[in-house]
Amino acid sequence: MPEGHTIHRHARMHTAELGGQRLAVSSPQGWASEAAEAVDGKVLTHVDAYGKHLLYRFEDDLSVHVHLGLFGKFRRYKLPGPPTRETTRLRFLGEERGMDLAGAVISQLIDPAEEDELMARLGPDPLVPRTRVNRLRTALARRKIPVGAALLDQSVIAGLGNIYRAEILFACGIDPHRESRSLTHDEVDCIWTTSKRMLRDGEKSGKIITVTRADAAGPLSKLTGTDRHQVYKREHCQRCGTPVQSETMAARTLFWCPNCQPG
Ligand SMILES: [Zn+2]
Repeated sequence: MPEGHTIHRHARMHTAELGGQRLAVSSPQGWASEAAEAVDGKVLTHVDAYGKHLLYRFEDDLSVHVHLGLFGKFRRYKLPGPPTRETTRLRFLGEERGMDLAGAVISQLIDPAEEDELMARLGPDPLVPRTRVNRLRTALARRKIPVGAALLDQSVIAGLGNIYRAEILFACGIDPHRESRSLTHDEVDCIWTTSKRMLRDGEKSGKIITVTRADAAGPLSKLTGTDRHQVYKREHCQRCGTPVQSETMAARTLFWCPNCQPG
């Protein structure tokens, strides 16, 4: 599943390419016909991202909610673009560019009351400006679950996925098995500021590069695959060489260094 930096990147690119334009919107697959009919011929003002959710803002206060889930994908192109496929859920055509959505778990209209409900279920998103660390602090203080599980819970912090949870906890030297409510003030601060920094870097570059210059073998921009990470899918910790441990936590494989993240 795409992590939050990808979602914010989609929002920025879709706003740049299609924002301010009157769009021809259709649902070739038919599954999003209601949304397509409601916004067809209307101006897309901009696209908002929150956690792993996208909100396409159209004139007349209409919003289309998209969540990619595991298999959702966008395809952006210059007009006239490719023929639609059977799986094309939504097609947005602007003046010069278009965009197709396939395979998303959510692609429907959302009204303000439903949006309030959605936002109430989500924890703070480190990429949304003016979001405060206090909401994360409160959410973690209420939970007895391991912090490694809490960071994947979208109601604790919105937008993190499996790579970031491993790399953020590594960067902060926190054992993922620690009870969420046992974290110190400084440790929560570290999780928050590291999340912000890593997600922001990912949003800009489109890649998750979490290994630091000091720990990498060569230039960061040349790294590929797991070479970009300190512990995620690594055999040895890139900082100290200790074998990386792994186990399933919150249904995903967790990686950590027992030396750099002591219990
Ligand atoms: Zn280590």
